[in-house]
Amino acid sequence: MSAVHPVSGNCHAASAGAYDVVVVGAGFAGMYMLHRLRGQGGSVRVYEQGGDVGGTWYWNRYPGARCDVESMQYSYSFSEELQQEWNWSERYAPQPEILKYANHVADRFDLRSDIQLNTRVDRAVFDEATRLWSVTTSDGKNVTAKYVVLATGCLSNARMPDIKGLPDFKGKVYHTGRWPHEPVDFTGLRVGVIGTGSSGIQSVPIIAEQASQLTVFQRTPNFSIPARNALLTAEEREAYRAKYPEIRRFAREEARNGIYTEMPDRGALDDGDNVRRSKYQARWERGGLTFMSVYNNLGVDKAANDTAADFVRDKIAEIVRDPETAKRLQPNNHPIGSKRICIDTDYFATFNRPNVALVDIRTNPIEEITANAVRTKAGDYEVDALVLATGFDAMTGSVAKIDIRGRDGQTLNQKWAEGPKTYLGLMSAGFPNLFIITGPGSPSVLSNMIVSIEQHVDWITGCIVYMRAHGLDTMEAKPNAEDKWVAHVNEVAQTTLYPQANSWYMGANIPGKPQIFMPYIGGVGVYRQICNDVASKGYEGFAMTAAEPAQQCAAS
Ligand code: NAP
Repeated sequence: MSAVHPVSGNCHAASAGAYDVVVVGAGFAGMYMLHRLRGQGGSVRVYEQGGDVGGTWYWNRYPGARCDVESMQYSYSFSEELQQEWNWSERYAPQPEILKYANHVADRFDLRSDIQLNTRVDRAVFDEATRLWSVTTSDGKNVTAKYVVLATGCLSNARMPDIKGLPDFKGKVYHTGRWPHEPVDFTGLRVGVIGTGSSGIQSVPIIAEQASQLTVFQRTPNFSIPARNALLTAEEREAYRAKYPEIRRFAREEARNGIYTEMPDRGALDDGDNVRRSKYQARWERGGLTFMSVYNNLGVDKAANDTAADFVRDKIAEIVRDPETAKRLQPNNHPIGSKRICIDTDYFATFNRPNVALVDIRTNPIEEITANAVRTKAGDYEVDALVLATGFDAMTGSVAKIDIRGRDGQTLNQKWAEGPKTYLGLMSAGFPNLFIITGPGSPSVLSNMIVSIEQHVDWITGCIVYMRAHGLDTMEAKPNAEDKWVAHVNEVAQTTLYPQANSWYMGANIPGKPQIFMPYIGGVGVYRQICNDVASKGYEGFAMTAAEPAQQCAAS
């Protein structure tokens, strides 16, 4: 006999292989989604392709990997006990510590029993007749769910570069986003690193300490600010904790990027040269992402932006002794901040080491990889090991790997062929009851991800509870609401300098990917208010259908 589930109202919830909610991914988003839904009593199954929880922090184990948002802020806020009790050891926690935290959360909130590891979701098909999703997993099983939540992460689909000859290379090849779990020792080896984004910039100084020779192949130089990482003292942690109510409130409601910091009240050109320089200097010394918050117009006014970019270029010239190398390391083809700004420890100084060389592959392109070398137009660079720090198919890549079919058999990949289309980054029209956490069209990667994750999970939970309370069966974005939102996301992006860079925000790093600015740049606080307003107006812009009588539970 079937029973009406207290949350979903579904009859199928009681039978094996039938869940109220299937969550794809057990990173920070998937784990919190499970925790929140558990609180409502629903049946939830989480599938995770990795061998453990932690998402991006499970995979990205490259040397030097650490978060670029301070750990006291890059942490869950939903549990007061958790945030008071967990002791972050450093200002920016290293990857192993963040992974330990993820594991602690899984254990502390008893999440593991509903998480199936080493299992990919390959397919999700919406059945119009039953209004359920049929979900196929990599272990060959099929389950049904009323709701599917994609907690697949924005930077989880590591991108192997299309470089001729790569499979013929005889040494070891590592991708930063799929680093082995066993220790990698480069001692005495000649190593080549391809890519100088955040992952390359974090790993280069550490690899340089081990390798006999390190050659860095750079296509685009990046702006990077010193992390000024340090151990946290007990007093610093206590001071933070005492201020948590205000820090968390500010991050959620006021900050554009979900990070607690001072809000600038003037533009860069409102100050004279000396004052401006001293302000940049103070932030440079403080270190970290908030360098871009010195002034309120660095993201929108090119002349203002140039002042910050010049400051960083001057710093590179000061740090790097060889003037030619310094020049090659100075970014000149995009405004500062229009590509994700990098945070480093001794990156530029590493090029002063005698065992480190920089190759500019923009002017001297890689032609192929041979058995033992990177062959450029100007000649061969012999290497024993290769590190590919070449990034991700960001924001849509992991979703695209799942065969998702909504109404009328339309696939999500067909629908998104010219760029992702969502309403609020949360749902896509034609795909009922399919939610995306930090999807394209939401602040996501432009924010402290955990702040955005918690907001989306809370909103989705509220939505599911609302549907149950109102006897509703399906919910989906209305096409006109979605079109307006997509237009709004583009419009806001166009008021900024972001579209001026060939960044992964634009899909520009993937050949053939439509070039659309994917995240919503209106700010975390503004976005939260929009989502709350939509909910308070009975989920304006979403179509909801009532459960048909046949869907009501009958004794069987
Ligand atoms: P990324 O920023 O996309 O950088 C990839 C690098 O590889 C770029 O320098 C790119 O050059 C180069 N590249 C790509 N394909 C290439 C090819 N075929 N030949 C030569 N060079 C190639 O990737 P990422 O460094 O992994 O970082 C991605 C994002 O992950 C970051 O922006 C950040 O949001 C996040 N992340 C965060 C942290 C942290 O919290 N500290 C650490 C790592 C990553 P072009 O620029 O010319 O395309």
